[in-house]
Amino acid sequence: MFDLRDLYQEVILDHNKRPRNFGQLEEPERSAEGYNPLCGDKLTLQLGLKGDVICEVAFTGSGCAISKASASLMTESVKGKTLAEVRTLSARFQEMVTADAEIEPDTDTLGKLSVFAGVRAYPARVKCAVLAWHTLQAAIEAKNKVATTE
Ligand code: ZN
Repeated sequence: MFDLRDLYQEVILDHNKRPRNFGQLEEPERSAEGYNPLCGDKLTLQLGLKGDVICEVAFTGSGCAISKASASLMTESVKGKTLAEVRTLSARFQEMVTADAEIEPDTDTLGKLSVFAGVRAYPARVKCAVLAWHTLQAAIEAKNKVATTE
């Protein structure tokens, strides 16, 4: 049986060191900023759309390892998906990180994102993990304000 907590540490370290889709798009269709005042994590997310499919995604920002790794993994997970699929994924992710420890993550839907179930052992860091998803929602809804985790 694989240890989710070891895998969690490994994924956080890897994505923090080598964040995927880190940078800026030349012509983003949507963008949003996110801020987690509890930890000081800041994030700018940009999306390129083709119809209702996210064809390009990039982020920049500064923050703790968890917020950065979560943003990195989020961008990997949403690329090529429709906005409807991404909304479902976002909802599942947020359910997972706030669920009771004994509830198994929905790995069929969440795939690699399931490792973030590990953050449940550190309740103070849950907001670091969901920041990227809050920001993504803001970008999708094209809200013209900073998304916060509060
Ligand atoms: Zn943080």
